[in-house]
Amino acid sequence: MRLTVKNKLDVKKAYGAFSEPELTRSGTIDDHNIILTTNKECPFKCVMCDLWQNTLDYTVDIGAVAKQVRDALDTLPKAKHIKLYNAGSFFDRQSIPKQDTFDIADEIQEYETVIVEAHPKLISAGCFQFAEYLAPQLDVAMGLETVDPEVLPRLNKNMTLDDFERATTEMLEHGIFVRAFILLRAPWQSEESGKHWAKESIDFAHSIGVECCTVIPLRPNPRIGLTDFEPSTPESLEEVVNYGLSKNKGRVFGDTWDAK
Ligand code: SF4
Repeated sequence: MRLTVKNKLDVKKAYGAFSEPELTRSGTIDDHNIILTTNKECPFKCVMCDLWQNTLDYTVDIGAVAKQVRDALDTLPKAKHIKLYNAGSFFDRQSIPKQDTFDIADEIQEYETVIVEAHPKLISAGCFQFAEYLAPQLDVAMGLETVDPEVLPRLNKNMTLDDFERATTEMLEHGIFVRAFILLRAPWQSEESGKHWAKESIDFAHSIGVECCTVIPLRPNPRIGLTDFEPSTPESLEEVVNYGLSKNKGRVFGDTWDAK
């Protein structure tokens, strides 16, 4: 049976606000404030994505997400960097109305870096306008997932590697840094092929100018079941991250979110 029950969220509140250290581009380890906003579910519905669990089924009113961010900022310590994650795309207007993105920009002028996430197909004029308006440096994280030609088309991501490369190139031309989320052991991959394709994905990301890669082990997703799901091992994650670091082409993180 497929379970599709979402967590109960309060539209008046970001569902997460916390701080954690991360290595910066300049080599320091700085605290990053992180706000997880409450908004409409991402329309892409990729098979491996579990972010829908903390989303709503409807578009929130104009001003609601900006207020969530304002209130969350009041609870967070001073930091130089902030991540605004909306379980989808920051430039999806059904998720965050355009006016809210600019109101949020006004609230975070004191930061040095702001990191948001987006689907490559939603990288266009709205993203570049936002980057220009914003005082901090904009970094955009996009899900590359895997360059495995057998798996990427089956993920329901509605994205090709050309789409990812086009979005990356255009953002770099606009002075926006790009980070890539890369799956370790994507659906239908074995432990060995999972490691292989995660390394290939890092190489692809580096080759097109991605500065930062985050390797994310596939997590069980109650919506699709993944009955034969087996988590990849911590050793595999370490191997893939070390492979990426050995290339000396930028930061490579291993995501241990939800790791037991
Ligand atoms: S585009 Fe990203 S947020 Fe949307 S369903 Fe796919 S993985 Fe999840």
